[in-house]
Amino acid sequence: MTQEQRPTTAAQSWDKAGWRAYPRVQMPDYPDAEALNAVEAQLAKYPPLVFAGEARRLRAHLADVAAGRAFLLQGGDCAESFGEFSADNIRDTFKVMLQMAVVLTWGAQLPVVKVGRMAGQFAKPRSAPTETVDGVELPSYRGDIINGFDFTAAARIPDPQRMLSAYTQAAASLNLLRAFSTGGYADIHRVQSWIADFTSGPEAERYRAIADRISDAMAFMQAAGVTAETAHELGQVEFYTSHEALLLEYEEALSRIDTTTGIPVAGSGHMIWIGDRTRQPDGAHVEFCRGVQNPIGLKTGPTTTADDLKVLMEKLNPENEAGRLTLIARFGAGKVGDHLPRLIKAVQEEGANVVWSCDPMHGNVIKSSTGYKTRQFDSILREVREFFAVHKAEGTIPGGVHFEMTGKDVTECTGGVRAVTDEDLSDRYHTACDPRLNASQSLELAFLVAEELRN
Ligand code: PEP
Ligand code: MN
Repeated sequence: MTQEQRPTTAAQSWDKAGWRAYPRVQMPDYPDAEALNAVEAQLAKYPPLVFAGEARRLRAHLADVAAGRAFLLQGGDCAESFGEFSADNIRDTFKVMLQMAVVLTWGAQLPVVKVGRMAGQFAKPRSAPTETVDGVELPSYRGDIINGFDFTAAARIPDPQRMLSAYTQAAASLNLLRAFSTGGYADIHRVQSWIADFTSGPEAERYRAIADRISDAMAFMQAAGVTAETAHELGQVEFYTSHEALLLEYEEALSRIDTTTGIPVAGSGHMIWIGDRTRQPDGAHVEFCRGVQNPIGLKTGPTTTADDLKVLMEKLNPENEAGRLTLIARFGAGKVGDHLPRLIKAVQEEGANVVWSCDPMHGNVIKSSTGYKTRQFDSILREVREFFAVHKAEGTIPGGVHFEMTGKDVTECTGGVRAVTDEDLSDRYHTACDPRLNASQSLELAFLVAEELRN
């Protein structure tokens, strides 16, 4: 059997509805139980968005990441929204991820596993259950799959019908991503020409040397007869989807039994992750995720204790299978050295097989002088560098990076070569949740991470 065909062990005494008996946090209380049940029944009949064989294939790729034979790039919106849904937005985010992947392939000298926070990233945990504006207190916005962004009492009521809209949007997004991946759009020669365009501007001069070296490598391959016709991989890509498995009614309704292995699979996306606010070892989210065979991400923040991490690794990956569990470290610039070494030690004490990925976004949110929730490019880069430095010191593998980003020219994070200032933030601040890197900042970060990987 090839690696991706290897069946994974079914979790002990697990049922897709079992999470309902466990304490839940960050989930809505739907006011109309009947309406909720009707939506769940409908979703349960719909086709899954992804297939178990694809999820297993991603696991096999992540097993390569765990072993240092590949590098992981995960990225996309903080929250997908119904309002920003368009073919152009999907294409642009996909496009910038491909560019980043080529640059990182050069940096790491390894294949890059590409995973979008796309086609399902709709539900959001919030730091407070309510929000007060001008003396009016309303329930917080929890993502378009749950309630509406508008600051009105009606919009903020959780509406199960939104799950159906989210499913439809995810299906259409995935359909387009599959077409882009194999239909010629992702040809590496095109991607390389986009990178060359980026670095021809005066601001990006610093990255031109890398872009030139990538062009040279491509020209050499072409001269040697390696083209998209002779080497199929150059003309298409494998692209996977992921999201936070927060809304468990939706996840349960889309879970299926894989007919090949008989093991449950989340049909909502290839990889799902557990957020920093929902990783209670005895909570509902861990209970649901332990039973599906998809690759699982686990956000690990400053409050993650070594003991909790050990319990979580045992629950989520009892057979210690490579590629099953990705620990997504999100500590904040300046704090990685305080936390990552103790968690690496916990992993080593258990002999656990994990991918370590760096999310330099969620520990670096600040309020700008102009009142916007933002992140500084330099803090993001600093956290990535600290992550690499700790892994180098510990002799462990920095497997990948996890970004909130978009292909659009938004002004949500400050800094970068085409500098966005605090004053600029109001120009194009479109995110429904956390601030994202724009296309230029994303690609620039890929260049800087590539330099880091080469060091
Ligand atoms: C997120 O990834 O958007 C998120 C909420 O992250 P975390 O759970 O790490 O805070
Ligand atoms: Mn976020």
